[in-house]
Amino acid sequence: MKSASLLPCPFFIGGEWIQPKLVGTPIFNPSTGEVISECPVGGASEVEAAVQAAEAAFPSWRDTPAIERARYLFRYRQLVEENFDRLCASVSLEHGKTLVESRGSLYRGIENIEYACGAPTLLFGNTLGNMARNVDCETLLQPLGVCVGITPFNFPAMVPLWMFPLAIACGNTFVLKPSEKVPLTAVLLVELLAKAGLPKGVVNVVHGGRECVDALLAHPKVRAVSFVGSSPVARYIYETGTRNGKRVQANGGAKNHIIVMPDADIPKSVEALTTAAFGCAGERCMAGSTAIAVGKAAGSILPQLVAAARSVKIGRTDTPMSQPDMGPLITRDHRDRVERLVESSEREGATVACDGRGAKVSDAPNGFYLGATIVDHVSETMTISKEEVFGPVLNVMRMEDLEQAIEVANRSSYGNGASIFTSSGAAARTFKHRVKAGMVGINVGVPATMAMFPFTGWDASFYGDLHIQGQEAVQFYTQQKTITTRWFGGVVDDVWRK
Ligand code: NAD
Repeated sequence: MKSASLLPCPFFIGGEWIQPKLVGTPIFNPSTGEVISECPVGGASEVEAAVQAAEAAFPSWRDTPAIERARYLFRYRQLVEENFDRLCASVSLEHGKTLVESRGSLYRGIENIEYACGAPTLLFGNTLGNMARNVDCETLLQPLGVCVGITPFNFPAMVPLWMFPLAIACGNTFVLKPSEKVPLTAVLLVELLAKAGLPKGVVNVVHGGRECVDALLAHPKVRAVSFVGSSPVARYIYETGTRNGKRVQANGGAKNHIIVMPDADIPKSVEALTTAAFGCAGERCMAGSTAIAVGKAAGSILPQLVAAARSVKIGRTDTPMSQPDMGPLITRDHRDRVERLVESSEREGATVACDGRGAKVSDAPNGFYLGATIVDHVSETMTISKEEVFGPVLNVMRMEDLEQAIEVANRSSYGNGASIFTSSGAAARTFKHRVKAGMVGINVGVPATMAMFPFTGWDASFYGDLHIQGQEAVQFYTQQKTITTRWFGGVVDDVWRK
């Protein structure tokens, strides 16, 4: 069903809002199943216009002092804060996050703007006077040119904010291609950039799917691509982008293991596991999707986990009147896929200890809901163990000791996050050093990094060299120039001579 008036979803190119001429792909309100807008399907011509606008804006933006560029970002931060509720409502409407989750994710995004406000010091180079006799050497961090960001559906505000604030703080110009499932919040974010007075063409927005992405990857003026999405697409973006001579950082999917040792604080572990597995309806790359209970831990945590999962209240997130613990999944197709994965686990020998299938929300019968689900006695060979589920489903595995538990976690093809719950320093230390994951939690269920640290996924969770966020991202968005200087005939006074 279509809403009576569809929300606008224009392109933003060279400082102008451009309304699409053709019908686009549906954008749903997942809480009700209603179509609320259409995402335009951009292709080569929109990409050409956006990249040209970004290329034209680059020389003047590059030459704007870092402290002036930072001032735009300070203004932008203020505007995002002033429009906080509107932005959160948009995330909850088009994605289905609860308002609490939308707020949390927007705070993470704002921290990225704050980090980027530090541009003048982030962009310091190095110098070594008298590197050789009468020769000085210095490094400058200079921008690359036009950078591109391609983002997923699951964090409509936070992931775009991982990218463009720092990219432009470093002196680059930017073309954002948000997910076609949730482009409306990205449009609002860019509207606020325009309000902050950002010069035309510094940030542009194009919409679309594969055709649009391929045009960006092929464009000779695009210097760098930041991507966040599923692993097969991340790999494709990395391979295609680098083949075309671009820098690429591509974050992929995940399968994160949480080991619970018998000496763990059980109530706190259960609380953390419940949030890690069912927060954001499991639609996050740092979701704790598999609990590995070691030894007697299974007996203590399982009944409490099941009780906690049963108490997770689902409901619509598109109205402040409803404050559920968990919202819907992004589309009906995705919800059905997650349900099929749960079915496959039963066929393959697992037990569904808490079944969220068929969950209904009385005032929104057509929403894309699935209740919190726990699948017990999962083994490594099961489909549900191998595939990223990306829904509110917690797999439970049982292992005899820490060694075995780490081996299972390490056999995953992904390497985003892994956590341990224990009161033993020795167990935690062994885990920290031996686990094959880029973000590790000790008594922390979701060890996602904040803006000042890189988001260090490994293996199939990341393709590239320099990660998103933190100092690595500054390196990604800049190129180093080293200048070696010698002046003939100069006289160097000896400052130490009295
Ligand atoms: P997706 O890979 O389907 O889409 C991501 C982006 O790529 C979108 O903008 C989409 O338009 C584009 N795209 C999709 N298919 C494409 C193709 N064949 N060729 C070119 N472009 C294509 O991902 P999604 O479903 O939107 O997001 C969920 C995924 O993102 C999950 O796998 C999740 O783990 C991952 N994710 C990872 C991180 C991380 O930091 N590692 C963070 C958030 C989400």
